[in-house]
Amino acid sequence: MQTLIAIAYIVSACLFIVGLKMLGKAHTAVKGNLVSAVGMLVAVVATLFLKDIVSYQWIVVGVVVGGVIGAVSAARVPMTSMPEFVALFNGTGGLASLLVAWAEYHNRRGELGALGADGYISVIAIYLAMLIGGVTFTGSLIAYAKLAERLDGKPVLFAGQQLVNGAMVLLSLGCGVLFVLQPDSPLAFTLFCVATVVSFIFGVLATIPIGGADMPVVISLLNSYSGLAACAAGFVIGNTVLIVSGSLVGASGIILTQIMCKAMNRSLSNVLFSGFGSASSGGDGGGAGEQGEVRPVSAEDAYYILEAASSVVFVPGYGMAVAQAQHAVRELGELLEANGAEVKYAVHPVAGRMPGHMNVLLAEANVPYEQLVEMDDINPIMSTIDVAIVIGANDVVNPAAREDETSSIYGMPIINVDHARTVFVLKRSMSAGFAGIQNPLFFKENTRMLFGDAKASITNLLNEFKGA
Ligand code: NDP
Repeated sequence: MQTLIAIAYIVSACLFIVGLKMLGKAHTAVKGNLVSAVGMLVAVVATLFLKDIVSYQWIVVGVVVGGVIGAVSAARVPMTSMPEFVALFNGTGGLASLLVAWAEYHNRRGELGALGADGYISVIAIYLAMLIGGVTFTGSLIAYAKLAERLDGKPVLFAGQQLVNGAMVLLSLGCGVLFVLQPDSPLAFTLFCVATVVSFIFGVLATIPIGGADMPVVISLLNSYSGLAACAAGFVIGNTVLIVSGSLVGASGIILTQIMCKAMNRSLSNVLFSGFGSASSGGDGGGAGEQGEVRPVSAEDAYYILEAASSVVFVPGYGMAVAQAQHAVRELGELLEANGAEVKYAVHPVAGRMPGHMNVLLAEANVPYEQLVEMDDINPIMSTIDVAIVIGANDVVNPAAREDETSSIYGMPIINVDHARTVFVLKRSMSAGFAGIQNPLFFKENTRMLFGDAKASITNLLNEFKGA
């Protein structure tokens, strides 16, 4: 049986890796998700045959309770709340690793010191699973609360914050060394409890100075931590598939974090320690008027320009997700194509509120994958485009990132829609985007503002086309 279980673990590890690879391309992503889920099913079923399983009743209770909570909440969560939902997932993953470490320490206390090198590995793994799991748990709860607006999204900064954080790190290191050296001593349990509390506090302290604007990056980082905690838990209980899957989550989380930082042209330390989104970077709050004239356009006038266009690029942003305008956008794209225009969808890597946000919505609306273009491919040909339609995007098309060295987003790569012959910006008001800063695009001579909810505006355009 043990050999069969080992083979099943290898199969599921392979399925995880293949699934992860498939997630890298939009047209294979859904299948990739399924392949990984099958891998997890194989791993879970194989684990149920392990001889160490003590009580199937409790497992059934856990599966039913957890399954119902997971299924109901996943079905109810709106797409725009997905990042905070993922934060909760990460948090529970971290807590699970902590509990595994705690249970294993409880079970093996008294025998760990006598195991020699093996004992040291187990004790270090127990301590790391507890520590990283605890930080991930409370850090994720704060990230969730900030994103769900249950806590103020502003960075919480106080004097001596770095010192307090440094002291927490030193305390957990000190406890760790003493714990590993004497895991069976009466003091060891106290050290373990102290370190658990420190990990909870540190998770909170490390996350509160980060503004709500940077939370998706933090969530990706916490996702990586939850993987590392699971990997450590895998060492604790000697489960290879947990070690493999934890490492995969840890590695992919950190890669995603780096991609997001790069797309915002910021370093990870800037995200974690700069307090981005505090008063100094809060910007002008989107006040209109100071940068020139705003030129509103009606759906009817926009239609005449679009009707004559031979190339159109849609640039979706967070507002498209809020308005759920993706289906209407696809329909408009089809009408424009039928009218002889070449239609593309330019997707910025950090448009929306989570990686791949726009790709998911456009795929849901069955926008052909071939029509999606990346920022680096569209920018060189933007000046040849007749009309760029910005749908609820703001920061990712803000020319200040290119032109204004004093801007807080200076250096962030953007989609250069202002280079197109005409730009339509679909949004409800002159309000700022995520970064909280004004957008000079709205005042450029070739820009026309189509005010209103993005879905309503696109529907009006569709009606103009259909009525023509
Ligand atoms: P922004 O947040 O910059 O702008 C969104 C715009 O959508 C707003 O200006 C808003 O204007 C408009 N809007 C909101 N609701 C509607 C609606 N119903 N109809 C029409 N418009 C609407 O979004 P972007 O996608 O341009 O930029 C994403 C930002 O998020 C970047 O700053 C990025 O760095 C940040 N970010 C993204 C992450 C990711 O993974 N994607 C991760 C971390 C940060 P109005 O209120 O006037 O309608």
